[in-house]
Amino acid sequence: MELREIAGAVAAVPECHPLAFIAEAGGMRLYDPPLTAVARADDPLFGGLKDEAAVGPAHLGPREWMAEAKSVVSFFFPFSEEVRRSNRGLGDPSFEWLYGRIEGESLLRAAVAAGVAAIRAAGGRAISPASDPRFRVVDRRSNWSERHVAYVAGLGTFSLSRSLITEAGSAGRLGSLVTDIPLEATPRPYAGLEEYCSKCGACMARCPPKAISALGKDNAACSGYLDEVKLRFAPRYGCGKCQTAVPCAAGIPPRLGTAAPSVPIFPGAP
Ligand code: SF4
Ligand code: SF4
Repeated sequence: MELREIAGAVAAVPECHPLAFIAEAGGMRLYDPPLTAVARADDPLFGGLKDEAAVGPAHLGPREWMAEAKSVVSFFFPFSEEVRRSNRGLGDPSFEWLYGRIEGESLLRAAVAAGVAAIRAAGGRAISPASDPRFRVVDRRSNWSERHVAYVAGLGTFSLSRSLITEAGSAGRLGSLVTDIPLEATPRPYAGLEEYCSKCGACMARCPPKAISALGKDNAACSGYLDEVKLRFAPRYGCGKCQTAVPCAAGIPPRLGTAAPSVPIFPGAP
């Protein structure tokens, strides 16, 4: 089975799924077409994710999820321009952004599940760790970090606000699957963990609880704010002000003359 067949099965879901169009917003399209990248299951960077400075010892490698794993396929679903535009104002998140965080995650999981099903139908093995019963989040650390996996696969680099900046920007959601099908790894077209972030600081100014500084993001301050948002918008929650109306929202931002010191996120990364 080829990567284009897996990617095609995944990309087909947001073209027709009922959740892909926001009824409360006149049928607004939620996602643009997804980006796809591949990492080898034995890429040594996966071992580095177990470091405390990365995700932590509870993070599982591809072969801990599936002993026969040969490849990891990572997907970035960019939010549409309309959804990004809806969240440009300061203060509370837009309805469309909240929808993207909750219904958008359900849609993404359905799309990745379609990729898993296509592989199984072709005789291969596949799972999506985020939808697996073994998936855990403890103290805000998961045992399968989609952002870190996407970095390893070549989809993009981390930002000051700790989102992942891809060729289609940072406003979007990530998913992945692990399979025993051998696929060619995507080149990592970057040499540093934060290479795509220009350190322009635009996200700092937009963050409601001022959780972002020149040294990175205060995860507790961000999470505390999201908890407060959830009290008012439950079951939905979200924010995303650091991913909208900023130079990295929909693409890799232009480089600036100087850059702040890079904060290490996990060892062993190029
Ligand atoms: S807004 Fe600027 S500093 Fe913030 S993550 Fe994007 S590129 Fe980096
Ligand atoms: S999601 Fe909101 S609270 Fe969290 S860092 Fe981004 S702007 Fe700040």
